[in-house]
Amino acid sequence: MDRDARIINGIGVSPGIAIGKAHVLERGSVTVPYYVLTEDESIEGECARFDAAIGRAERDLQEIKEKIRPELREHAHVIEFHQMILRDRLIYDETLRLIREERFNAQWALVRALRKAHEVFGALGDEYIRSRVADVDAVGQQVLRNLSGRTDDWLDGIRERVIVVARDLSPADVGQLRLERTLGLVTDMGGRTSHTSIIARSLNIPAVVGAERATELISTGSVIIVDGAAGKLITNPTEREISHYYERQDEIETYVKEINRKAHLPAQTRDGHHVGVEANIELLEEVVAAKDNGAEGVGLYRTEFFFMNRKELPDEETLYHEYRELAELMAPQPVTMRTLDLGADKLTSWYPRLEEANPALGLRSIRLCLHYLEVFKSQLRAILRASALARNIRLMFPLVSGIGELMEAKRVLNEVREELTAARVPFDEGMQVGVMIEVPSAVAIADLLAREVAFFSVGTNDLIQYSLAIDRGNEHVAYLYEPLHPGVLRFIKQAVDAGHKAGIEVSICGEMAAEPVYTPVILGLEFDRLSMNPQAVPRVKNLISRSVMKDCRKFVRRALQISTAGEIGDQLHDMMIKKFPEEFRVFDPSALMARPALPRFRRDH
Ligand code: PEP
Ligand code: MG
Repeated sequence: MDRDARIINGIGVSPGIAIGKAHVLERGSVTVPYYVLTEDESIEGECARFDAAIGRAERDLQEIKEKIRPELREHAHVIEFHQMILRDRLIYDETLRLIREERFNAQWALVRALRKAHEVFGALGDEYIRSRVADVDAVGQQVLRNLSGRTDDWLDGIRERVIVVARDLSPADVGQLRLERTLGLVTDMGGRTSHTSIIARSLNIPAVVGAERATELISTGSVIIVDGAAGKLITNPTEREISHYYERQDEIETYVKEINRKAHLPAQTRDGHHVGVEANIELLEEVVAAKDNGAEGVGLYRTEFFFMNRKELPDEETLYHEYRELAELMAPQPVTMRTLDLGADKLTSWYPRLEEANPALGLRSIRLCLHYLEVFKSQLRAILRASALARNIRLMFPLVSGIGELMEAKRVLNEVREELTAARVPFDEGMQVGVMIEVPSAVAIADLLAREVAFFSVGTNDLIQYSLAIDRGNEHVAYLYEPLHPGVLRFIKQAVDAGHKAGIEVSICGEMAAEPVYTPVILGLEFDRLSMNPQAVPRVKNLISRSVMKDCRKFVRRALQISTAGEIGDQLHDMMIKKFPEEFRVFDPSALMARPALPRFRRDH
C-alpha cells in the first residue's frame, strides 16, 4: 500500500526533476566546552592549539579553492573571503586576547569573539559586510570542528547518486560536491540569487531552496522527488507519484533534447523577425558552453571576475592574453567586453576597502575606473590590442549615469588609442563602443547618449534595482523586485526607442532575458539582441522561433497601459499557457510567475 505522501514547498531555482535517495547533511553544531584554564594549563599551548585549528581551516579552504572545477571558478572569491575572515582582527586577535587575558579555553574564546563580530558586523553601515554574517558563522563552525578534533563525513562521505539535502551550502561546500553523484539539491535556506541557486542553474542540477524544514522532515536514505521548476519536494512519494514524475522527467529530457538540437539555428519569429541571441560569460572557460548551447556571440563578458579571483592586480600582458584567446575562440562571432564593473558586491583585494554607507550608490563600476585611471587604461590597452586580431570585439562602459562620465571614459579610451598608434601597436580602429543602460538618468538622457555610442545594452538587473530603489540582494525587499513593473517596462521602452531613433542597436543582458516567461515581452519591446547565461539560450531561442512578433508587440502595447506588475504577469501567464502549452507542460511557469510574497520579518536572536 502507498505510504502517506508529504509535500514541502520551497523556491524552485533550477528546473528539472530529480528522483532518488536523500542524503541529509547533518553537519550539526559542535558541542562547545566552556572552561577557564587553570594555573597549570599553558596559555601559550591553548593559543597554539587555536592557531593550528585556523591553519588547518586555511589549508582546507586553499585545497578546495585549488580543486574547484572550472565551471565553479567564478565562486572562488567567496572562498577567499572565508580565508580572509579566518585572520580577521575581530576573530583571530580577539580569540587570542580572550585566551590570554580571560584564560578562556580556545572554543569558548572563539565563540565569544564570533558573538562580538556578529554584533559589530550587524551594526556596520556596509551592506556587503552586514550580509556576510552567515559567512562568519560558516567559518567559525569550521574552526570549532577542527578544535573539537571532529572530522565529519560531510560531502566526501557520499558514495552513491543522491539528492543532497542541507540546511545551507556554502560556496566551499558546493566546490566539494561530486557532481556526478548529485541528482538534485535541496536547502532549508536561500533564495533565487543565493550561491547554491546560481551554481545549480549553471550546472543544470534540479534544485529547491528555502524549503524551510527539509532537513528535519527528510531522512537519509528515504526516497524523495525534487521538482526544481515548481519548487516542490515530495517525501515518501506514492508509487503513482513516482511514475508520474518519471514520466515528467522523460518528457523534460525529450523536450530539452529537441530544443538543444535546434539551438544552433538562427532565432527568428514565425513572421520572420530575426533577433540575435548571445551569451553572458564571466570566464573564458564558459566559451564552450556558450557555443554548445547555440549562442551567436558573447553579448556580455563580465571582465571583473578575472580580477576578483586573485590577490594581485593582473597586468596588461595577462589581460591581453586572456582577451585575445577569448576573441579568437569566438571569432568570427562578436565579443562584447564590458570594462571593469567592480565595487558594491564585487570586491577584490587590490584596492582599499571603502567605508561606504551605500556601496550600490558608491564608488563602483565606471566611477571606480575613472578613479583608478592606470587600472582602467591597462584594461583598455589590453582590450584594444586584442581587438586587432579577429576584429570582433565590441566595448561597453557599465553604470554610466551621465554624458560627462561617458565623455570622460571615451577621452581615456582615445588617449590609449593615441598611445598605441604612437607606439605602432595595432588595434581595430573601427571597434564599436557602447554603453549599458542601468541607471534611470541614463534612460532619461538616452537620446543624448545614443549620439555618442554605437549601441546600448540594457542591464535590467541594475536598472530594476535603481529604478525601483530596491537593493537587488536584500531579501526584505525582494518582493518588490518586479521586472514587469510598469515603471521598468516604460523605462526599457524609452531606452529602446531612443536607441532606434538614433539608428543604433539595442541589446538586453540582464537576467530578465534568460527567463523564457519574459521572452514575448522582450520581443515586443523590440530588442535587437538578447544576451543571457549560456544554459538559457536553447529555451529562449525555441520560444522566439515559436512566437509571432505582431502578437508580442500587441501584448507590450497593452501591457504598457496596465498599472501593476501583478496584472501584467497574470495576462502574460495566460497568454503563455495558451500559446506555448508544450513548454509549460514541461517547465511549470507558475513558480516564476507567482506573485512575490510579502516579507515575513524575523528576529533571529
Ligand atoms: C545588469 O545589471 O543587468 C547586468 C547585466 O550587469 P550585472 O548583473 O553584472 O550587474
Ligand atoms: Mg549591472
